[in-house]
Parts: sequence; C-alpha cells; structure tokens
Amino acid sequence: MKPVLRQLCFWLVATAPSSDFAWAKLNLRLVNIAFGTFVVLTSTTVSGPDKVMISSLATEGIRGVLLDIEGTTTPIAFVHEVLFSYARSEVRNFLTKHFGSAELLADLQQLREEHATDVKHGLHPPALVNIDVEVDVEVDVEVDVDGPRDAEIDSVAEYVSWLIDRDRKSTGLKSLQGKIWKEGYIDGTLKAELFADVAPALERWRHAGLKISIFSSGSSLAQKLLFAHTEAGDLTGFIDNYFDTTLGSKTDVASYRRIASALRLPAQDVLFISDVVPELDAAGDCGMQTLLCIRPGNPPQPFAERYQTIRDFDEIQNHSPDSGTKASSPLS
Ligand SMILES: [Mg+2]
Repeated sequence: MKPVLRQLCFWLVATAPSSDFAWAKLNLRLVNIAFGTFVVLTSTTVSGPDKVMISSLATEGIRGVLLDIEGTTTPIAFVHEVLFSYARSEVRNFLTKHFGSAELLADLQQLREEHATDVKHGLHPPALVNIDVEVDVEVDVEVDVDGPRDAEIDSVAEYVSWLIDRDRKSTGLKSLQGKIWKEGYIDGTLKAELFADVAPALERWRHAGLKISIFSSGSSLAQKLLFAHTEAGDLTGFIDNYFDTTLGSKTDVASYRRIASALRLPAQDVLFISDVVPELDAAGDCGMQTLLCIRPGNPPQPFAERYQTIRDFDEIQNHSPDSGTKASSPLS
C-alpha cells in the first residue's frame, strides 16, 4: 500500500497544472495527511503492514530461542577465514606446547579413532604417527623422544589440516580447535564477529524472559569463547545453554528432543533459527518452531521455500504475518 500511496502523491503533483503550483501543494499535503493516517491506523489497529511485535512470540507460546552460529549469528567467512585459518596456523605450536598434557589426551585419542574410520572408509587421510606404539616396541632402549614426538605432532597437524579442508564436523577436531581458539581469544588475537542485529536481539529476548540457547557444531567451549569475546562485548550473560554435537548431529531429530528435554520445555515452545534446511527439518520433525536465516555470504539452500525466512533478527518483532510460507513458524 505504501508505494501505491506514494505513487498517487507523485501523480497528483505531476498532473497538476503547471500554472497552479499552489493546487499541487495542497493536494500533496492532503495525500500526505491521508498517507500518515493510513500508517497510524494500520500500525495500531491491525497487525500492521510489517509489524508483529515480540509479544507474538509469547502468543505462539515460545519460551526458548535456539540459535545456530555459523551463517546465523556469525558470518560464515569469519568461521572459515578467521577461525579455521587460525586453528590451522596454530595447531603445531599448540600441540608442541601442550603435548603430553591431560587436556590433549582425550582429543588425540578421539582424532586417532576418527582417523582409523577414515582409513577404513578408503578416504586416504595423511598418516598418523603414534609414538606410544614406537616407545612400547623400544622397551628398555634409550630413545630420542623429541624425534618421534615431533613426527607425531607433525602428523596430527597434517591430519587436522586435512579435516579442516573438508569442513569435517569432527568432535576431536572441534574440541582441539576450541582449545586453540581459547588462547587466541585470551591473548586478544581473536575477536568474534556477529551480525549487528544479534546483540540487541539477545538483549531484547532476554528482557522478554525467553531462554536463549546455542546449538552449533563448534564445541560448547568454542561457543562460549565466541560469545564472550565479541566486538559488542561479552554476551554470555544473555545465553543460558550451549549445546554441541556431543549430544548428536544437527540433522538428527533426536538431538533436538534432547535439547528440549535439557531446557525442560516442550519442543513446540522452542524456536530454532538456522541457515541450513536439513537442520530445520530435524528440529521441525521434533516439533520445534523454525525460521530459516538468510545472511550475506550464505550459500543458497535447496528447499528454502519450505520455510519462512528472515534476513536479520529484527524481523522477528517486525515480520509481516503474510510474507511466510512454512507452517512451522511463529510469525505466520
Ligand atoms: Mg549454520
């Protein structure tokens, strides 16, 4: 309606007799008054041309918001070009510094198991050196520990790079990356990038009494670090829970059942926002409400038309009730 009224306004001015400029001005004023009245009326009495306030979330019974990170709260480029590059360039230093520590043992064990699976599946990952095996063989023989240790570190670093190249959602990789990023965040080398509407939305939803949680393939440690070190400051005070893939895949419906159960909320009271359709499929199958988030830099999603979409979180309180297509939405 707005463009139509504006067009009418310009038409009246354009068609006014050129000799009678006062006539045109009068009509312009009248149309502006009518236009203003229309906006006020539609904004306050109906749902509004583009307005559904956050109370609509409450109307839909939503008590929790579950957010994906990459491509939803954070540019994909930040994850791939900044975080992954940092992990790749620092992994060798990190392993050297912490080799033999208890905190690395579990990650290395996990990586070895995943490596064995990759070999079994014929994926030809770079070979892993395991000095435990070599030392066992050399019982009672003096060995130069540094040589084998360096070989193992090099081989793990190469395998980690190989996994990063494939954007593998590997638990061992994610856990190790989280620890590497922690050092970068703490020494100030890394600063997390969020879309500008994210921090205000977290604050607004928190103020509205919603439970806010994250579900990301990054480890829960990496998630907390990211939200603790953003360009908008430490946002962890707004977030209640961090879920990672240790509870299940993001495309598995069982993961969302576990999350709803951990939140102590019925699934239908949770709104899941993600940029990936198969994740929304799984959450929707569990009964959660869903929104597809389309951000700059995100690849096109097959079957995106099945979901109501948003381009930023501001739309959640300003979204047109008739612009969506998917039934599983709090905004339609
Ligand atoms: Mg994502």
